[in-house]
Amino acid sequence: MSTRAQQYAAVVVRREQLAEHFVRVVLAGDGLVGFASTGIPDEWVGLIVPGQFQSRYYTVRSWDAVAHELTLDIVVHDHGLVTEWAARPEIVGETVTVTDPKGSFALPEDAAWLLLVGDLTALPAMARITEWAAGRSPASKWSQSPRIWVESPEVLTTYLPVTAEVSWSIPPSDDSSDLATVVEGIDWPDGEGYFWMAGESSQMRAIRKHLMRDRSLPSHAYDVMGYWRGGAVRQPRAVDPGPIYREGRAAGLSDQQIWERYDQAQQEASP
Ligand SMILES: Cc1cc2nc3c(=O)[nH]c(=O)nc-3n(C[C@H](O)[C@H](O)[C@H](O)COP(=O)(O)OP(=O)(O)OC[C@H]3O[C@@H](n4cnc5c(N)ncnc54)[C@H](O)[C@@H]3O)c2cc1C
Repeated sequence: MSTRAQQYAAVVVRREQLAEHFVRVVLAGDGLVGFASTGIPDEWVGLIVPGQFQSRYYTVRSWDAVAHELTLDIVVHDHGLVTEWAARPEIVGETVTVTDPKGSFALPEDAAWLLLVGDLTALPAMARITEWAAGRSPASKWSQSPRIWVESPEVLTTYLPVTAEVSWSIPPSDDSSDLATVVEGIDWPDGEGYFWMAGESSQMRAIRKHLMRDRSLPSHAYDVMGYWRGGAVRQPRAVDPGPIYREGRAAGLSDQQIWERYDQAQQEASP
């Protein structure tokens, strides 16, 4: 069976500067016929920009199945394949390739609370998850708003739905983060719940250890994902989380085991 993801050609129809380091790109066009959301609120696609053959992964901020419009919100950092492309206002009209979406958020049925933590790259997923949570049946056990912590150089006050209780913090510097301190300082609610987090990979590995060793959270109670790898050099090859996720699921692995495999594959792809 092929593990190659379905690909779709899409045209940039709008580009909007949401903040100094954050750009919204809206894709549309006949090439997106057949594209369908998984409905999993942290779903992502692979994105290949013109002149490149390597993908980078972006959360589906929204998919309009009527207008066939796919919205991605992209962090523009110092340098990178997609960063340098998205930073250019002239990208409107250009054609890119996206892959079928995949997602890993899995709120347990009996979860009584939901905590979300992340950096700017995690903000689109945290917004999607919050919207999804607000649309859940009032009959479900979980009926509160998520509690969110965001570490970002810019505070985007109107980006997250008003239903969420949000704490913003500024990273100590461009290439460091204090998210571990944020997680260690959480006043954990009582009962069963779900913790979702994404950010720089080595920090996420440390946070998984903290959740397992210090908080004794069972693996189904959290999903902690390395979204990008720090380091001075351009990454030679991004590792597609899609096949690793599909194969892990088929092998009966937990989300945590799958994301650990993904971290390992990213390390092996490094120079
Ligand atoms: C499932 C998933 C969902 C994601 N969703 C989003 C999303 O919605 N929006 C989003 O912006 N990103 C998202 N990311 C992260 C994004 O894929 C990476 O940040 C990616 O490396 C950016 O590609 P690039 O071509 O700009 O930089 P690359 O060519 O990959 O990297 C160039 C250099 O930039 C550094 N770098 C990469 N990302 C960052 C960063 N965020 N901040 C500072 N330095 C960085 C690298 O260490 C490297 O040195 C997601 C990742 C995953 C796995």
